[in-house]
Amino acid sequence: MGVQDTGCLSRVPAGHGLIREYNGSCTFYRDDQYVSPNFRMREFNPSGVRPYGVMRRLVDLLQTMRYSLGVPILITSGYRHESTHESGLAVDISVPRKTFIQVAQAAYNAGFRRIEVIKRTGTSYWNNMSVGGHVHLDVYDGSGITTRGTIYDCPTCASRPCYPWYAWGAGSWWATSQPNTFSQLLRNLQADRGNTGYRGC
Ligand SMILES: [Zn+2]
Repeated sequence: MGVQDTGCLSRVPAGHGLIREYNGSCTFYRDDQYVSPNFRMREFNPSGVRPYGVMRRLVDLLQTMRYSLGVPILITSGYRHESTHESGLAVDISVPRKTFIQVAQAAYNAGFRRIEVIKRTGTSYWNNMSVGGHVHLDVYDGSGITTRGTIYDCPTCASRPCYPWYAWGAGSWWATSQPNTFSQLLRNLQADRGNTGYRGC
């Protein structure tokens, strides 16, 4: 899955981005055109990469979050040549007027099942996100089928689909087997237990 599987990236007109629809077809939008009620095409490309595009499901889940939070969501990183971002499956966001905990909960409620919460040293998950940090969200389905092969699979997961997850530390990242449920993630956030992520199968 992902935008690179379509072949459409090579056909994106100048000044446009692409959305890969649920049925696999591609829609081209002008950079300034709305792809959902609150998001314009170019918001998924803060790094200015060309060509670029994202999956429709990513847009839809973000819009669902936008409705439930009721305040602007800033996409700090969208399409870029790295990890699931490269397949148009992921965004990093900040919601300056909501806490990390509120944002993680809204993401889960919207349907995201790969949620990573990164805060800065000396801040709390109870702080509004205006203190810095970000939340990574992605719609990778655990199939292992992306242009980046199977690197996103978690080898110890017994069931498929598998949602591998990891947490970021200072200058490095490591695989973690805990928490493996969203409620565990929420408890870790509420206890302000370092950088944390969610991994489930
Ligand atoms: Zn990210």
